[in-house]
Amino acid sequence: MTTTTRVDLAILGIRGRAPVSRRAGAGPSDDGHLVLDGRSVAVPLNDASPYWLEGDTLLRDGVVVEDVAVEPVRRPRFYDLRTAEGTSYEMLARLHGRDVLATTVVQTCVRYDEAERCRFCAIEASLTAGSTVAVKRPYDLADVAEAAVRLDGVRQMVMTTGTSAGRDRGATHLARCVRAVKARVPDLPVQVQCEPPGDLATITELREAGADAIGIHVESLDEDVRRRWMPGKSRVALDEYRAAWAEAVRVFGRNQVSTYLLVGLGEDPDELVEGARALIAMGVYPFVVPFRPLAGTLAQADGATAPDPAVLEDVTRRVAADLVAAGMTSDGQRAGCAACGACSTLKQQGA
Ligand code: SF4
Repeated sequence: MTTTTRVDLAILGIRGRAPVSRRAGAGPSDDGHLVLDGRSVAVPLNDASPYWLEGDTLLRDGVVVEDVAVEPVRRPRFYDLRTAEGTSYEMLARLHGRDVLATTVVQTCVRYDEAERCRFCAIEASLTAGSTVAVKRPYDLADVAEAAVRLDGVRQMVMTTGTSAGRDRGATHLARCVRAVKARVPDLPVQVQCEPPGDLATITELREAGADAIGIHVESLDEDVRRRWMPGKSRVALDEYRAAWAEAVRVFGRNQVSTYLLVGLGEDPDELVEGARALIAMGVYPFVVPFRPLAGTLAQADGATAPDPAVLEDVTRRVAADLVAAGMTSDGQRAGCAACGACSTLKQQGA
């Protein structure tokens, strides 16, 4: 598959449905999960896309896109199990890509008031829709993880959280969940994702709980973009992020720490690439992802649109080259979004 096709798919997505997909929730969503040319790919489900699938063939405007091997991801068997109280495992964690188990351990965010909320985020929309529960219990997640590994061959787990009002910003519950999962499935690599915790010692607690990798997601390094798109979160200073990344690299190791950088929020592409370069120099993997105007977000109500594919391709190509030159590729990560890579085109470009 050419990089241009991969970038197009990341932005335009595919028409129709996919057996594994998700609506709303934390991070990129409203997407379908496929395996293209052997790699997990998460693409928007978009009825206006020129791309669609017919069996294992990808078409664009009715013309077969040659040389792309398509494998749909089948609905995992663990989705059909329930806890003793009757909660469906599907409500507790979801399959992402081909082999990643992902959960949001606390589905609420202290910043979800409309004046404070990140405009691209729909973390509470899946809760409002009744498709998840507000707080996942550690022992339930351990049961789900065990079943997902045994029945569906899951190979890594991502745990994210909404931000709490506490000084830990939600990291303490994350640590409890990691500990429970690791006690049940010791060999399952786990990535945790959280804001910079107020007390940097929390990063060591997450590592000691058993987390293998950590994502501390800034989304943008541009202060104007941060204020416009993330009014609440932008009050966490970039210096606080830098301190948390540095401590995380010390604790978790180089290339086991990552951050999302969204393309398409109005940032200067050259500055984004420069910022990514500084992150790489620190040992932090910049996970470059196109902004998606998700249903239920303030951005969608604003009429915000996905980035220009040419800009995404250019930015991703330059960041991928820097990552490869530094020897920091996703294959070297134990767990996490960058290790999965389905929401980005960086893997397509060797990173
Ligand atoms: S990159 Fe992260 S959010 Fe995207 S499919 Fe993979 S684990 Fe899920």
